[in-house]
Amino acid sequence: MAKAVLITGSTSGIGLVIARRFFEAGYDVGLNSFEPEAEIEAALNEVKETGSDRGNSSRVEYFQADLANNNGSELVEDFIKTFGRIDVLINNAGVQKVAPIEEFETSDWEKIRAVGLDAAYQTIKSAVPAMKNQGWGRIINIASVHGLVASPFKSAYVAAKHGLVGLTKTVALETAQSSITVNAICPGYVLTPLVEKQIEDQANVHGISRDEVVKTIMLAPQPTGKFVTPEEVAELAIYLSGDMARSITGTSIAVDGGWTAR
Ligand code: NAD
Repeated sequence: MAKAVLITGSTSGIGLVIARRFFEAGYDVGLNSFEPEAEIEAALNEVKETGSDRGNSSRVEYFQADLANNNGSELVEDFIKTFGRIDVLINNAGVQKVAPIEEFETSDWEKIRAVGLDAAYQTIKSAVPAMKNQGWGRIINIASVHGLVASPFKSAYVAAKHGLVGLTKTVALETAQSSITVNAICPGYVLTPLVEKQIEDQANVHGISRDEVVKTIMLAPQPTGKFVTPEEVAELAIYLSGDMARSITGTSIAVDGGWTAR
């Protein structure tokens, strides 16, 4: 029987590339977001095309859920109803807002925390009993280099990602003897729609051009001087989901071009 993976926030960016990689590897895949119909259709087709040349018999289904609304548990329940199991849970959905703390809107703070941290608490809480019953499971939280270090003007994002790293460690300890691993992947800057929008916000907050944002803010702390690619993140997620990664749990793995080595 194919293993089943649920990836939150997976109709765009890193989540979509992870979905394609797992489909290619033969997993049944659950996509999630709250995007308009056209984008959902495009994402479903993009994932299916990944395996079409090999006659891939895996399934891909879409699960609509706006994770800003405390419905992570229902999302996991719907997924289990459809696939009958949950082998890998990848908490990837996240939103960003760049503003000084004095101007940081409460609504932005709450949304970033709800999507980036509360939703992971809810999905993990619902997935762990099913994984324990199956006797095997993998939980991967897409945190960020901002789960390990801070940058100015990102109070909510940095707080939520640090919280996600803490949640990762705690659940890893609680599930260590149940053949379940729980890890966080902490990417540096990856050029996705989330970052495209941030270039504009950063340019406004810092009063500099888009090119300067990329050069002096985004790529300056990454010693490689290059964006991380979503494919690199997806490959690590596949590795962490394999049996040979059974002793890797409770860790936060930086994929940050050397950022946190400083
Ligand atoms: P993205 O904006 O391209 O994709 C985010 C996905 O999350 C989209 O599919 C969107 O529909 C979904 N989403 C947003 N709000 C949602 C909600 N309320 N409910 C359900 N789905 C929702 O972003 P990305 O850059 O691919 O980021 C993916 C993850 O990686 C995020 O958690 C982000 O914090 C993290 N990350 C990104 C970078 C980067 O540089 N891009 C770096 C480190 C960590």
